[in-house]
Amino acid sequence: MHHRTAVRVVCLTLAAAGLAACTVSRSNDSSARSSAEEAPPAATSDSAGDPYYPEDGNPGYDVTAYHVKISYDPPKQALRGDTLVTAKASTSLPEFNLDLQGLEVSAVTVGGEEAKFTREGDHELVITPAEPIAQGDTFETRVQYSGTPESAEAGSLGENGWQRSSSGGAFAAGEPHSATSWYPANDTPRDKATFKLDARVPNGWSVVSNGLESPATPGNDGWTTFHWNEPNRVATYLTTVGIDKWTFERSTLPSGVPVVSAYAPGAEGKKSVESRLPEIIAFLESKFGPYPQSAAGGIYINENIGFSLETQGRPIYAAWAEEPVVVHENAHQWYGNSVTVDQWKDICLNECFASYAQWLWDEAKYGANLDEQYRTEVARSTGHLWTGKLYDMGAGNEFTAVYEKGPLALHALRREIGDEAFNKVLKEWPTRYRDDNASWSDFEKLVTETSGKDLTAFFDAWFRGDAQPADEFLYPGPLRK
Ligand SMILES: [Zn+2]
Repeated sequence: MHHRTAVRVVCLTLAAAGLAACTVSRSNDSSARSSAEEAPPAATSDSAGDPYYPEDGNPGYDVTAYHVKISYDPPKQALRGDTLVTAKASTSLPEFNLDLQGLEVSAVTVGGEEAKFTREGDHELVITPAEPIAQGDTFETRVQYSGTPESAEAGSLGENGWQRSSSGGAFAAGEPHSATSWYPANDTPRDKATFKLDARVPNGWSVVSNGLESPATPGNDGWTTFHWNEPNRVATYLTTVGIDKWTFERSTLPSGVPVVSAYAPGAEGKKSVESRLPEIIAFLESKFGPYPQSAAGGIYINENIGFSLETQGRPIYAAWAEEPVVVHENAHQWYGNSVTVDQWKDICLNECFASYAQWLWDEAKYGANLDEQYRTEVARSTGHLWTGKLYDMGAGNEFTAVYEKGPLALHALRREIGDEAFNKVLKEWPTRYRDDNASWSDFEKLVTETSGKDLTAFFDAWFRGDAQPADEFLYPGPLRK
């Protein structure tokens, strides 16, 4: 995710090259509740156990596949959904929950048999199958529903979830919540699953989503169904749908990965930005290893929403997004999407790295002197840059410090352990945890193992600390004056 609200633009003029390398970051304006110090909730029937969002997700089963089928009539804003969730029971389940926000559920079946259901709380769909599901069984839940989707809660970055576009279309995007505004899900990043979408819209409209496309199938009723399929396991917040009068561009990366990019009416001018994608992906591959997703591309909406988001294989870009944002969201395809956080307190694994990827890009492509950039930013820093924590920052504060302090911390880490170890870590992380979840402590372990150094005090100062690190950590190695 990369956002625009209250941006602070830091430009470093490179006198020698006559270029300006700019990083855009957001000032600390979060007013958020903090539950960091509360004890983690037990995994109950309606919680996957993330202390920041205790009502999200559900234990007791592991979703392996979503097959979402929707019809959407843009002028009426009317959605009909028929979603199949395939899951494996990790315990015996007399009942279980899915997360679904709003929308009216008309029928639920489990294993083809009618099931009872109720709605509870903000977004709990509580399902009682005809027979309890035995531990270890794989079961299919079908949920039929309809209504006008609503946006999820407005987070610090603006609206999340389902939103209408100015052309009359719609799109769904948001972090941490968006999926449950249009399909029932186990809405936790811990439960990644494959994702297939069949979306039916009136002729003249078209649909873009994650992963690979199959040819659209026109009906004889004036509607056409579009088919998308993400075969790599994806976290629910990284799924998306865009319904608009898209202009599509299709190509192929040298590796054979298909590229599909979509431009909403008015956003066609972004084709020049997206034209850098093959070069950007090749650069990121040189740093992080082979591109880990099934497909690539971008979804360019013509809306000034508060963020762009790294939806899997095909980021969704706000109207203000330029080249640095394309670098950022594609870096997430490794850091965040292929390797997904275990809990939201691990979010630096996504944002610190995607932000530092922009530094690496500026270094490689524009000759940016990163040591100089680092010293300049530290010298200009005010107290607020240091008070935000990069690890376990508290619910609602996930995006407060990571964009500014995050790349500084990673640059300091690079100078602390040296380029050889740092470059090894950058590639080893997405290799070791590919298509999986991992935590910040897993990352610390990898760095310690790779560098052979005890970095406890360094990590404490930079990632757990809420003050400017002591000089020994602030100016390691060649950064020392
Ligand atoms: Zn990001």
